[in-house]
Amino acid sequence: MKVTAGWTLNCIDCETVFEQDPPGYFCSNCGGLLEAVKKEYTVSRNELFAKSGEGVWRFRVLLPIVQEVSPVSLLEGGTPLVRTRNIGKETSSGNLYVKNEGQNPTASFKDRGMTVAVTRAVQSGARVLVCASTGNTSASMSAYAARAGKAAAIILPSGKVASGKMVQAVVYGAKIVRTEGTFDDALEILLQSISGLPEFAIMNSVNPYRLEGQKTLAFEVYEQLGFMVPDYLVLPVGNAGNISAIWKGFKELRLCGITDKVPRMVGVQAEGAAPIAKAFWRGSDAITPVQNPQTVASAIRIGNPASSKKALAALRESQGMVLTVSDEQIIAARKLLASREGLFVEPASATPIAALTEIGAKLERDSLIVCVATGNGLKDQESIHVDIDSTPVASDGKKLVELFRELTYGQIRA
Ligand SMILES: [Zn+2]
Repeated sequence: MKVTAGWTLNCIDCETVFEQDPPGYFCSNCGGLLEAVKKEYTVSRNELFAKSGEGVWRFRVLLPIVQEVSPVSLLEGGTPLVRTRNIGKETSSGNLYVKNEGQNPTASFKDRGMTVAVTRAVQSGARVLVCASTGNTSASMSAYAARAGKAAAIILPSGKVASGKMVQAVVYGAKIVRTEGTFDDALEILLQSISGLPEFAIMNSVNPYRLEGQKTLAFEVYEQLGFMVPDYLVLPVGNAGNISAIWKGFKELRLCGITDKVPRMVGVQAEGAAPIAKAFWRGSDAITPVQNPQTVASAIRIGNPASSKKALAALRESQGMVLTVSDEQIIAARKLLASREGLFVEPASATPIAALTEIGAKLERDSLIVCVATGNGLKDQESIHVDIDSTPVASDGKKLVELFRELTYGQIRA
């Protein structure tokens, strides 16, 4: 169908401009990824921030969906930006905020993009929403499909997905199919077979409408900081759509003349799944896929990121960098954030804090830093061991008070 008036979809490789959504959302000329581009960025600050209480859709003036289209929404977005107060020493950061995306309707940042992509898919007449996903994307897509009255179907690599990860998708009513190979193979099969069949709409992050929703995080952060742009925006990088999207959001604020500054984008990957970090530090624009990616942070266990080109461009343009952290650092950072700040995030979402414990001291003093916590900790509890049977037993009230004092006093800091 026709791209919304005032917008085009542009190939990031060969720069072909599309006035129609091409099949499968790939450039039909060279196979490159597409980006939604507004013909004129003339939105004022007052116009962009005039509305409140509609989640992502309050920013519709910078979204490629016309006013007349009724959105498929669960009131996503509008998540808290929490200033940290107890982990300054560990992170060497006195001015550190966490954007808590786990508070979205399906408990991850994916909802921001899904509301826009599903709205577009419904508008285009698709009947079945499809994705390759082992977790957050499938949960989000299934919820919005349910909301829209459409079907949801998911392809998974067989034998590599813990059932717990698919709980949300199953309850929302999605249908699941498995295939041999890795996650990357599953995505490849999906993209090759589904593209061009109008009854299906692909909801993986190659869908440029997803990134349009996800970019609204930049607008919210700017507003929540009292109309300030952070010095650093730190976030986990897996398939790399989100870093590309958030960077686009900040660039659009600058294109509109609302700000003159942009943040330095800092991506964080797990050591066992770091193709973008490797390409970045060797100065290459092309990644070498990691054949068998390994990390406890399942949300970023990606060997062949679909949006790697966009991400590398975002990192370079913003004078940012991409760091790697070990699984031990990720688990420690998750514990730190939960036990010292009351923020329980999934392992991938702890990677920015893990990275700051490494490099925080090397950044300029008093830098304004925003870390994006992409998903809620309740989604991924596999790495947490709880053994209630080995905890002490209170035989009477006196023993109870004694035990409570003995166990807890060491934790009190103020
Ligand atoms: Zn192209």
